[in-house]
Amino acid sequence: MPLLANRVLELTMRLGVVRFGLLIAAFEILFSMLVTVVLRGIVVGELHWIDYLRPVLFGLIIAPWLALFFTYLIKQLGVSRDKLAQAHRKQQALNAELKRKVDELNREIDERHNAEAQKQQAIRYLQREVAERRETQIKLRDNAVQLRSLIDSSPDLIYYRNTEGVYSGCNVAYEQLVNMKEADLIGLKPEDVYEEQIAEQVRITDGKVLDDHESLTYEQWMTYPDGHKALFEFRKVPFADARGNLQGLFGFGRDITERKHAANALEQAARDKTTFISTISHELRTPLNGIVGLSRIMRDSELSEEQHDFINTIYLSAVTLGNIFNDIIDLDKLERQQLEVAPVPIHLPELIADIRALATLMCRDKKLTFDYQQNGELPAVVEIDGTRLRQVLWNLLGNAIKFTTTGQVALAIDIRPAKHGKVDVDFSVLDTGVGIASEELDKIFAMYYQVSDQGKTKAVGTGIGLSVSQRLTQAMGGEIKVSSKVGKGSRFTVSLSLPVLTEDQLPGAENIELPALHALLVEDIELNVVVARSVLENLGCTVDVAMNGTDALRMAREGDYDVLFLDIQLPDMTGFDIAEELMNDPNPRLRDTPRIALTANVIRDKQEYIKRGMQDAVSKPIDVGLLTLALGKAFDCIEESAQQEVKVVEPVGHQEEQVLEIDFVTQMHDTLGSELFLKSADMFAQLMPDYVESMRNQLLAGDDKAVAEVAHKVKGAAGSVGLRRVQKIAAQAQDLEHPAWKQNIDDWVEGMASFYSSDLDELRQQLLAMDESY
Ligand code: ADP
Repeated sequence: MPLLANRVLELTMRLGVVRFGLLIAAFEILFSMLVTVVLRGIVVGELHWIDYLRPVLFGLIIAPWLALFFTYLIKQLGVSRDKLAQAHRKQQALNAELKRKVDELNREIDERHNAEAQKQQAIRYLQREVAERRETQIKLRDNAVQLRSLIDSSPDLIYYRNTEGVYSGCNVAYEQLVNMKEADLIGLKPEDVYEEQIAEQVRITDGKVLDDHESLTYEQWMTYPDGHKALFEFRKVPFADARGNLQGLFGFGRDITERKHAANALEQAARDKTTFISTISHELRTPLNGIVGLSRIMRDSELSEEQHDFINTIYLSAVTLGNIFNDIIDLDKLERQQLEVAPVPIHLPELIADIRALATLMCRDKKLTFDYQQNGELPAVVEIDGTRLRQVLWNLLGNAIKFTTTGQVALAIDIRPAKHGKVDVDFSVLDTGVGIASEELDKIFAMYYQVSDQGKTKAVGTGIGLSVSQRLTQAMGGEIKVSSKVGKGSRFTVSLSLPVLTEDQLPGAENIELPALHALLVEDIELNVVVARSVLENLGCTVDVAMNGTDALRMAREGDYDVLFLDIQLPDMTGFDIAEELMNDPNPRLRDTPRIALTANVIRDKQEYIKRGMQDAVSKPIDVGLLTLALGKAFDCIEESAQQEVKVVEPVGHQEEQVLEIDFVTQMHDTLGSELFLKSADMFAQLMPDYVESMRNQLLAGDDKAVAEVAHKVKGAAGSVGLRRVQKIAAQAQDLEHPAWKQNIDDWVEGMASFYSSDLDELRQQLLAMDESY
């Protein structure tokens, strides 16, 4: 139907309304005619023209209306169709729009799907990340806890400060030192925590670390809240963030008090050893001095040839023994890097003659021959430390004789002139002894080394001599060489370059014309008196002797002496005490009388003696030459420039010390009774370890004042229980003005530490004895 309507409409449009109306009319007429004819023909059976005309007329009347109606209808239909088409187009446009939107929507949905998928993926990733982070955080926390416990369990101090010097944290050890919890410490500065002096040190060292960006180490004594002191080795290290910006510093502090104690104990042990060596050598020297001095005096007296030889052997043996002491002392000095040589003008032929004499005698004893060879002229006066050269040559000759059983020992001297007024001298000592295997040659100069396979001779000796000789030779600017063949013998050569001087530069005693002097000799050992008196009398002096300090002072005041010779250790006082008394005497003659110390051990420089009231000092055994020199100097008989520097001695010894203050102890015993008095003694015994510990620590800390303060307490406490010896030591230790406080304080502290308990034992015994005697 719509198709038909469309066709009709299209036809109408094509034909136009008139022609379409005519077509409708014609169609209608034809249709009416057909219907009338058919109906008339069937119903009536006959047709009239009217039958034909009627449909035509009817058609003509009705056709226009019909055409109009159709036309209108068709127009309406057209309009509807247009509208429909328009609606259709609109619909299509809408559809297209809709489709586009749907597409867009679909795209958007797709995009959203994708986004959702991505979001899901991101969420999963985030979840993974969160889980990982959580795990990392847990690990970090665990690590931090571990690190913290590690830091806290460290016995070392650990702390950190920012660049402003403000604390950011610390460990437990540090909390204990500053007596403050970390939380309270954070935000504070060193000056809020430490006393000013330490805070200042902290500021200075912090400044250095932060300015130079370099770590720094230093030692510092710190005081714990309970008052005990500890020496810390602090190390400060700058730290920066990941970008390299300086953030502050880490500080580490290690308690090195024990280490310091150990080091000090080691030093003390070394000092003790030195004291021991000095004391022993001092003790041995006194009798030796007697032998050397007296045998020398006897040697120069009227004797038969045989007696002269015997005495000479005694003399030379004693001198050799003295040299062994020297070796031992030198060994100690070597260890303390204190070996010194003092070159002075000496008469070389004289020195060589002495050595030849000694060697001849020693060889004769072993039935060896001694040969002396000399190539070139021996200069009369050279500058060298004669004692040391003698020591080296004696050592080599002694070895040569010791390691040779048959044949000969020789001293060969080769002298060659050298530049700058010097001579090069090779002193060679040759022997025909056991010899030394070539692989041993470089070892024999080592300390204590002895070649193991040398027959019977190997046990004799110490293995020190060559080592000391080599170092002495080196100290004199020379060298020792050795060549040897096993079974054939050895050759040791000392090469030295010696400045040659003229005779008048020799400060020889023979050049000194001494006046006749009236001397007071203060010496308590009989043997030493005999030796010194003989020497002095030989020099033309008249000698009076005082055997203790009191007599010496009395005699010095009463007599009219030109010179005093003072031994240092006397039973009642020291030679220095006498010198001091005389220096302060109102009588100017006494003040000005020259005082020369006669002393036994070579320890310190002569200046020490001069400072303490002596004009000079001469060591024992008395060397006549040196004594003459000292007198010549004191009485202006020689020029100052020609005066020989002499190393002199300081006695290191112990005086018999009274342990208890007996009067006081008796008094206390009588008034308090033993029991109460012993209680005080026990209290003292309890206090002392702390006092000693404290003094040792303060000593280490270098806090002299604190040491003296504790010593003061010890003095009081020791006095209150009658411990005289400890009290006396403490009295010295408390006196910071004491001229040798620094030098002695270690010994004093150790003295108090070592004496107090045995002195207390003595006190207890004393009280017991007193109880019993009641
Ligand atoms: P000491 O003689 O007291 O053992 P030294 O330091 O003087 O010590 O000598 C070290 C070692 O060198 C000796 O023990 C010895 O083995 C060897 N020695 C030194 N001189 C000679 C020598 N003339 N002949 C053979 N061996 C020697």
